[in-house]
Order: sequence, then structure tokens, then C-alpha cells
Amino acid sequence: MSARPIDVMSIYPKDMNIYGDWGNVLTIKRRLALYGYEPVIHAYNQGDPWPEHVDMILGGGGQDSGQEKIADDFFKRADTLRALAQQDVPMLMICGMYQLFGEYFETIDGTKLDGIGIFGVYTEGREKRMIGNLLEHSDQFGDVIGYENHSGQTFLRDGVTPFGHVDHEGCGNNGEDHSEGARVRNVIGTYMHGPLLPKNPKVSDFLINAAATHRYGQFQPQQSDAQKAELAHIDALAASARRVAATRPR
Ligand code: GLN
Repeated sequence: MSARPIDVMSIYPKDMNIYGDWGNVLTIKRRLALYGYEPVIHAYNQGDPWPEHVDMILGGGGQDSGQEKIADDFFKRADTLRALAQQDVPMLMICGMYQLFGEYFETIDGTKLDGIGIFGVYTEGREKRMIGNLLEHSDQFGDVIGYENHSGQTFLRDGVTPFGHVDHEGCGNNGEDHSEGARVRNVIGTYMHGPLLPKNPKVSDFLINAAATHRYGQFQPQQSDAQKAELAHIDALAASARRVAATRPR
């Protein structure tokens, strides 16, 4: 079988990578291989060169201080990131990076961090932290299961599509309007740590499909029987993990 590389970029993993977010990168790497693609993983930190190909971008959460640290470099890359979003490159931005993909994040101590405005959302730090398991419903992905831990409350501008809705378990964007995360083109912003992707294969497969389509015009798995069986096994494990996580008290 021919090697079919897919370039996946993890942005700022040194400073923006908490509560297991690196697991998202590992999940994409494994699933891409099981679909018969060659995952090429780039860990991009401040000052690093930008890779030639970018088919998917993954970003994680961080402390307010981590968000301040990356701000300068992040702004230098803002135009590139906005252009890639317009080209339908799939991106998954968790918590702290989700906030910085919005308009701004004003931290609890009054520091205002400008975002790059891919999402029409803004975030304000509050005393109360929103911590615990999070279960939301998304029309596209069904039930999405994860874990949140943030003090920033995020509000969507009129007309902005949330990633999902929190009915019972969790706070989501702000603990008030039941919205969680945001969605623009193939860019997902969400408060879901956990990490998100191992427990939510539908979201992983959406990102992989969009990345393959970006690179090759279509998603075309080339799998041996052993690879199909391994993927089915992983999905069965994910289904068990989802069942347990959904019943855990907050
Ligand atoms: N520092 C941000 C907040 O507390 C983001 C936290 C996170 O990424 N988990 O809201």
C-alpha cells in the first residue's frame, strides 16, 4: 500500500496541554494508522518553524499563565490559522486554546488576552471554577462525554453555533445558557478535556475525514482485516468508557 501522509499539528504542547489533552494527539495518530494513513505529528511550540503541510490542528488547555506565555507567538500565526480555517482544515481547540480562538479572555486578575477571533465568543474569568464531568448533546455527534475545569465563562455572540448543549451534567460555556463550545466550519472549540477523543470516536473520525479530504480530496480507508479488527476493539473499549463516564457523579 502506498504511504499517504497526513500532517497533524499539535500547537503549544509545552504550555497548553493539561488533563490528558495529549491523548487527543495519540488517538488521532493511532486511528489514522488504522485507516491506512501515515500520521506525521508536529509538536509546534513558540519560535518553531511552521511545517510545510498542515492537515489538522489540535490545541489543548492551559493555566492562565500558559495562555499569557504563548500570546506573542500565537499572534504571529493568527493569519495563517485563520486562512487554514477558511480552507476547511479541521481543528480541535480545548479549553484554554478554545478561549484564545475567541475574541478575548479577560482573566480573573484583569489581564486581557486578545484572541484571534475565529469564534465569535468572549471569555471572562470568574471566582468560581467549573469543574467536573461533562455530558453534552451535539446534533452531529450525539452524546459527547468529557471533563471540564475552567474559571473562564464563555459567551457566544448572536448567531454563533455551539459545539453542543449541556442538559444535565456540567456547566459548559458559562453555567447559564446550557451552551458548550463553539463550531465554525471544521473548527471545534470545547471545554472538554478527558481527553476528549479516546472516548468520542465520532469526533475523531470527523476530524480524520476532514483532514484526509483536505489533503487528498476524499477520505478513503485502506485497511487490513487486522486493522479493522483493532479499530472495532478500540471502539468497543470507548463504548465501555463512555458508559462508565456517563454514570459517574460530577
Ligand atoms: N486558564 C483557563 C481557565 O481557567 C483555561 C483552563 C483550561 O484550559 N483548563 O478558564
